[in-house]
Amino acid sequence: MAELNPFKIAQAQLDEAAKHLKLDKGTHEMLRWPMRELHVTIPVKMDDGSTRVFKGFRVQYNDARGPTKGGIRWHPDETIDTVRALAAWMTWKTAVVDIPYGGSKGGIVCNPKEMSEGEKERLARGYIRAIGKFISPKIDIPAPDVYTTPQIMLWMMDEYSNITGYNTPGMITGKPVIAGGSLGRGDATARGGMYTLREAAKIRGIDLSKATVAIQGYGNAGQFAHQLIEELFGSKVVAISDSRGGIYNGNGLDFKDSLKVKVDTGTVTNIKGDKISNEELLELKVDILVPAALENVLTEDNAGNVKAEISVELANGPTTPEADLILQEKGVYVIPDFLANAGGVTVSYFEWVQNETGYYWPIERVHKELDEHMTDAFNAVHKMREEKGVHNRLAAYLVAVKRVVDVMKLRGWV
Ligand code: GLU
Repeated sequence: MAELNPFKIAQAQLDEAAKHLKLDKGTHEMLRWPMRELHVTIPVKMDDGSTRVFKGFRVQYNDARGPTKGGIRWHPDETIDTVRALAAWMTWKTAVVDIPYGGSKGGIVCNPKEMSEGEKERLARGYIRAIGKFISPKIDIPAPDVYTTPQIMLWMMDEYSNITGYNTPGMITGKPVIAGGSLGRGDATARGGMYTLREAAKIRGIDLSKATVAIQGYGNAGQFAHQLIEELFGSKVVAISDSRGGIYNGNGLDFKDSLKVKVDTGTVTNIKGDKISNEELLELKVDILVPAALENVLTEDNAGNVKAEISVELANGPTTPEADLILQEKGVYVIPDFLANAGGVTVSYFEWVQNETGYYWPIERVHKELDEHMTDAFNAVHKMREEKGVHNRLAAYLVAVKRVVDVMKLRGWV
């Protein structure tokens, strides 16, 4: 099996784009590494009276186009290289949807499933005390990601406001709507992905009202994808999964019923239907595949078995470079991660604009402007694909990297 270090993969993807764009050595090297990164230790008083020390990171990858932006992941397997890769992908993500940010990412090595609410709050506040000097609404703006929630964002905002001495909502996005969040941020990642799916289906001549769908992952992105794909297109979701396994039902899985079982029992595997594994889900004969869990799930070992026409990557980094080539060969239309899942950061941008101006938008405006950003980004990537005859991920890289490089050159960095 090839190397699955996400940062090495992110660098290899960039190297390929650099070749096509004929980047000079200095510019290319500048883009291969984060501009800044901070490693912290966070002591937390646990409920049993002991103190545990957690490891955390914040990586600011590139800020040529504006303050850096990116979520915070809480995951037991978090590593600095995962965070670096995700920070690089945020840089390309904000560029491809053309919002005035660079890219960053944060992570804490922890297992939130085994922590109480109080322990989580103390960890959230401890992290902000540790990285507080490194971030600000004008420097680097965090947001939710894997296993972090609007509640966690608000604890962080509260802690940061204690440091500044005044309410500073623009230091973080993904907050609860009643406390400085934006309408429409909750389902924004999935909704943005659905807008790109709508465009891809037009190109492929697929009638989404008759399409079958499999969704891997049932967190924020996967759940909302299930809801929106039913609501917006009337497609039939036949398989869903979470970290414990998946369920297949050829008659279709109703969103409300599925969510109820997930909430009541903690997993989708108790839903009525045939039990399948996460691996089997990826290889189902469906029209649309939605990887919405973690990185490196489509590799050279299983990409050849994918039968879907379109893969909408709501997860970050689900497909390895080898798998990309196999999917391209098979004619699968991949909507690559940093395009497909850019809706989250796009509405984060709207949230930050609202916080900084103190004027809050109606939901219609959020949806309309999100659709415009996503559709423009999709069209720019599709056009590049057609012009250069490359697969979609490389096309997205060519669009995004060029936008970052043009500003770096104009600013006189390279
Ligand atoms: N964590 C999300 C992502 O990977 C959202 C980032 C943000 O809203 O800043 O795109």
